Amino acid sequence: MIAGHGSARTRLIVLAGPTAVGKGTVAAQVRRSHPEVWISVSATTRSPRPGEVDGVHYWFVSDEEFDRMVEDGELLEWAVVHKAARYGTPRGPVEEALAAGRPAMLEIDLQGARQVRTTMPEALFVFLKPPSWEELVRRLVGRGTETEAERERRLETAQEELAAEAEFDITIVNHEVHDAAEELVALMVGAHTEDVPSPDSD
Ligand code: 5GP
Repeated sequence: MIAGHGSARTRLIVLAGPTAVGKGTVAAQVRRSHPEVWISVSATTRSPRPGEVDGVHYWFVSDEEFDRMVEDGELLEWAVVHKAARYGTPRGPVEEALAAGRPAMLEIDLQGARQVRTTMPEALFVFLKPPSWEELVRRLVGRGTETEAERERRLETAQEELAAEAEFDITIVNHEVHDAAEELVALMVGAHTEDVPSPDSD
C-alpha cells in the first residue's frame, strides 16, 4: 500500500536516495529496458566525467547559463549537491512528457525531491535504499571517480539522506539493478512491466 495515493500507480515518479546507491544505474536500466518511460535530463554545472555525453546524461552548462535558467523560471527544482555543483530539472520537458501521457521519471537528490513535493504533490516519491551502509560505502569507494575529500563529503551527505526515508511514499531496496528497475516501472501507469507482481496486490 502506498501512503497518500488513491491509486497505487502514477505517471510521475521522483526517484531519490543517498549518494552512490545506484540511482543513475537504475535509471539507465529503465531507459534500456523501458523506452516508453521518459527520463528527465538534468542541467548541471559540474564537468562531464569520461564517457558522459551532453544532452544524454546531463546538460552540462556554465554557471552563467544556470543562473539564467533559474532567473527565467526554467527549472522545476534545483539544488547544490555535495556542496559542489548545481543540478536542476528543466521544467518544460517534464510538462511535455506528462501532457503527452508518457510515464515520466526524475532522478534527483533529496533537496530537489522536497521541492517537487511542494509543486507536484501528485507525483510518487520513491526512496532507493542500499542493502546496507557497508554496501553503500563499498559502492562509493569502488566507483573511484572522486577525490578523498569529495568522498568524505558524499558520505556525510549520504548519512543525512538515509534518514529521510520516512518522507517518501515507498522504498525500494537496490539489491540488484534489474529487479529495482522493474519494481520502479511496476509503479508507473502506462509503463509495461515484465514479470514483477503489482506491489499493491497485498
Ligand atoms: P552525479 O554528479 O554523481 O551525477 O550526481 C550527483 C547527485 O546529483 C545525485 O545524487 C543525483 O541524484 C543528483 N541530481 C542529478 N540531477 C539532479 C537534478 O536535476 N536535481 C537535483 N536536485 N539533483 C540532481
